[in-house]
Amino acid sequence: MRNARTWIAVLAFAALPAAAQQDYSKVEIKTTKLGATTYMMEGAGGNLGLSIGEDAVFLIDDQFAPLSQKITAAIAKLTDKPVKFILNTHWHFDHTGGNENFAGAGAILVAHENVRHRMSTEQFIEFLKMTEKPSPKGALPVVTFAGSVTFHLNGDEMRAMHVPRAHTDGDAIVHFVNTNVIHMGDVYFNGMYPFIDTSSGGTIQGVIAGCDRGLAIANDQTKIIPGHGPLSNKAELKAYRDMLATVADRVGKLVAAGKTVEDVAAAKPTADLDEKWGKGFIKPDQFAQMVAHNILKNR
Ligand SMILES: [Zn+2]
Repeated sequence: MRNARTWIAVLAFAALPAAAQQDYSKVEIKTTKLGATTYMMEGAGGNLGLSIGEDAVFLIDDQFAPLSQKITAAIAKLTDKPVKFILNTHWHFDHTGGNENFAGAGAILVAHENVRHRMSTEQFIEFLKMTEKPSPKGALPVVTFAGSVTFHLNGDEMRAMHVPRAHTDGDAIVHFVNTNVIHMGDVYFNGMYPFIDTSSGGTIQGVIAGCDRGLAIANDQTKIIPGHGPLSNKAELKAYRDMLATVADRVGKLVAAGKTVEDVAAAKPTADLDEKWGKGFIKPDQFAQMVAHNILKNR
């Protein structure tokens, strides 16, 4: 495993000690039924969303390549059918690492056009000082969309909608219309400060707008799958969105007053929020700097 992948594995699961990250043999896939045909699976990397029923298996994201067999085994407990479609919420490899394995087994990979573009070319994630080589052809989405795409399967309707310049420039959130589930991808890190990938076109204002898209289609019964963190709901997504807006506002004022990224972090603009949100893998100082850098870059 390359160091870069280790790094993001650490990032993706900072709740666990770093040494545990690389040993995928210890990872167990946990399945939660959310509706008649809808499931969430958690292992290592981004949370999975599934529709399983009479027509086909539809899967959102596929974590890391070494977990493909475990994910396949977890799905096989629910159906005899193979995975027919995979929708990638964005290009990061804790969400697309299994693409080549599943495509090799017959799945059709679908994503926003910027996901295919970024996976096809070398990427540099500045925040992590990390270079990611182009993915092999077999890992690339073969169906791409610009605005939205809808899957009509299993008596449900899965609407994948692009949310511009949010966590990256290729994020999709997915609404399971009939079973009342939303998969937010990495637009939503439940209960923690998020990583916003500015190098991949991400912006904090786009993340806030993406949360608003999710909130607009949710009701009090909607089950919301975050990219990372436990299963959630509308009230928690709203609290997260409001936290982001508060931080963006405070940091924006400091930047407008001429403060540098270092000055912003030193001013501790998130101090009263850190108890609730600062215990994930992005630490309070890092988040303040990330938002300041993002606002400076995009103003
Ligand atoms: Zn991500």
